[in-house]
Amino acid sequence: MNDHRGAGRYAPSPSGDLHFGNLRTALLAWLFARQTGRAFYVRVEDIDSERSSAESARRQLEDLAVIGIEWDEPVIYQSDRSAAYAAALAKLPTYECYCTRRDIREAASAPHAQPGMYPGTCRDLSEEHRALRRLELSAEGRLPAIRLRAKAREWTVSDFYHGEYTGAVDDVILRRGGNLNQAQAGDWAYNLAVVVDDGDFGIDQVVRGDDLLASAPAQAYLAHLLGYQQPEYVHVPLVVNAEGKRLAKRDGAVTLREMVGEIAGEVVGEVAGGEGVQRVVDKLAASLGCPGATNLLKSFDPLALPREPYVFGSA
Ligand code: GLU
Repeated sequence: MNDHRGAGRYAPSPSGDLHFGNLRTALLAWLFARQTGRAFYVRVEDIDSERSSAESARRQLEDLAVIGIEWDEPVIYQSDRSAAYAAALAKLPTYECYCTRRDIREAASAPHAQPGMYPGTCRDLSEEHRALRRLELSAEGRLPAIRLRAKAREWTVSDFYHGEYTGAVDDVILRRGGNLNQAQAGDWAYNLAVVVDDGDFGIDQVVRGDDLLASAPAQAYLAHLLGYQQPEYVHVPLVVNAEGKRLAKRDGAVTLREMVGEIAGEVVGEVAGGEGVQRVVDKLAASLGCPGATNLLKSFDPLALPREPYVFGSA
């Protein structure tokens, strides 16, 4: 699967239609990959069995195609990749974690806890203690989570816009725990899936929203442990609403379909090339600092990309 020319990717979670911010990030990922002669993959991040839907994935792919993004085959579905995640998990130093969210919240408020980091409650339990906790959990119908036993405390990544970025490495969750009757109990965790997929598909350029910058060091460390090449990161500014908050569907009329005025039941493909879609593509191009939407692949200048969040609704 490794491609010597390298590859980029766009990795949406199929939990609703893509909005202007998602489309902008997708377009940037495509532009960065194609301008540098890389392959470009779309990866459907559907490991969250509670929030993902195949219909949403289908609509997202349709939206990407409509705005002119093309990708290399195959489209990668994380739900097909369990065997790869299991193989990776088996290679990593791990431990079972029996904590509930509440346990973590409470331990994290202790005086020496580091904010946002797992407080380490289950890291050094004795085998006897673990056996006991396992019994308690199964009586409660809960499954333990699996965490990385990280040896590094921090890791440095290289980012096109952020330079050398050093951040904390946590004992991230690799497989989720939870109540056995909940949909996502035992699901693969985002951090493991992302790293294994990027590694297996030869992704050496990761373009995504800068809300994920802080998770890059732990992911790059995981990649290192698994023997994958560390990708170059390109964390791009997000699109925000008028209040400066990350754009969300509740901001209204933000998805491509809403913006082109989709009539209920109409296939968005039918309006491809239509005026409505062109308006959205023009707006996307303008948000990237490009003079127009024609030949974006030539005219996009990564260094001209505005570095501050793009306010949706601005000209
Ligand atoms: N699926 C993630 C999201 O939609 C993106 C993950 C990534 O690009 O690494 O926010």
